[in-house]
Amino acid sequence: MPHKPDRGSRGALSGDSRRTLRAKARRVARHLEKFLGLPKQGESLPPPLDMLIATILSQNTNDKNSHRAYTRLRRKYPRWEDVARAPVRSVIAAIRSGGMANQKAARIKEVLSTVRNRYGSYDLAEMYQWTDQAVIDELVQLNGVGLKTAACVLLFSLRRDVFPVDTHVHRICSRLGLVPGTGGPERTFALMKAIVPKGKGYSFHTNLIRFGRRVCRSGNPACGLCPLVKECVFVRKRGIVLPRRIISKSNHDFMLLDNVS
Ligand code: SF4
Repeated sequence: MPHKPDRGSRGALSGDSRRTLRAKARRVARHLEKFLGLPKQGESLPPPLDMLIATILSQNTNDKNSHRAYTRLRRKYPRWEDVARAPVRSVIAAIRSGGMANQKAARIKEVLSTVRNRYGSYDLAEMYQWTDQAVIDELVQLNGVGLKTAACVLLFSLRRDVFPVDTHVHRICSRLGLVPGTGGPERTFALMKAIVPKGKGYSFHTNLIRFGRRVCRSGNPACGLCPLVKECVFVRKRGIVLPRRIISKSNHDFMLLDNVS
């Protein structure tokens, strides 16, 4: 039976439900670490502005294409001020492999211009001193920057213990019944905040992305081989067994945001 949580008068989870879901999130995170390993963040992380631009490039494409686009952009224009001054058609040409190049080039130039106007330079280093919420509030004001992008800057650049939610993470959290009812990634981000085990933002997020690529895929989840089947409340489970190499090899593990330099 799909999980039906208690709800408070304003739609918030009751304390009991939150405790139950917290325990479930701990179990799921543990199972994933056993199944996929414990991902470790690099010793040094890229500056927040680099991560912000990389995350914009990652929208609506896969990590390999966006990594190619990011690398070409940085080779062509090593400094952000060079990108800001460059003709937009030249930026479009540099990032074409990442898809939606016209839109992304315009967005990147607009973000750079706003950053320069607000902070006096192409740098968001001030944010190292800010609270998580202050960083989110500031970044989401930028055109084309949503909660997911802001959370990625917090996690992958500022090393904060946050749990970004994209459509893939949202899908798996819903199938597992970690977030009750319907809603989108933004609601899932808010609900998961209360139940992700402390200190596990990076490993839980990274392992859910890997798990979504190898096993709990959007159209054809490999439920027959899923280590989380007992936790899952998804009503359309599928018994399809994927070739072992898809399940066991890390050929889908490349993540742009761990490779921004
Ligand atoms: S049982 Fe299937 S739907 Fe549920 S988490 Fe596993 S792969 Fe995904």
